[in-house]
Amino acid sequence: MEKFNVVTKKREVLVDITSQVQQMISSSSISSGLCVLYCPHTTAALTINEGADPDVAKDIVKGLAKLVPQDWPFAHMEGNSDAHLKASMIGPSLTVLIEGGKLVLGTWQRIFFCEFDGPRSRTAFLKLVDFP
Ligand code: ZN
Repeated sequence: MEKFNVVTKKREVLVDITSQVQQMISSSSISSGLCVLYCPHTTAALTINEGADPDVAKDIVKGLAKLVPQDWPFAHMEGNSDAHLKASMIGPSLTVLIEGGKLVLGTWQRIFFCEFDGPRSRTAFLKLVDFP
């Protein structure tokens, strides 16, 4: 298993980690298998969505903020319940196919680390499962 860092620069932002993940796959000997990604945080998540137009990632942040307003009267004292809800809505893990040593993604798809309570230095885990 590998552990890697994701530095987020805003409270809520989607960070494209596709190249970082592909680099870890390329530096391994895996040709065909699975890439399992896991986010060990309660206010961050992982998703796959369009990376061609950067406005899509911004709209995901904007749309989630509309669905889960930060100033809603939550009970949790930290004041970041919106971030906890968004993290659960998006989810903590992804599984992506690997073929020919490359991530199998659609033309417009990218892998995003979703920050909902930044800016912070975050970690994520990656496990490659080889199918020889
Ligand atoms: Zn909290």
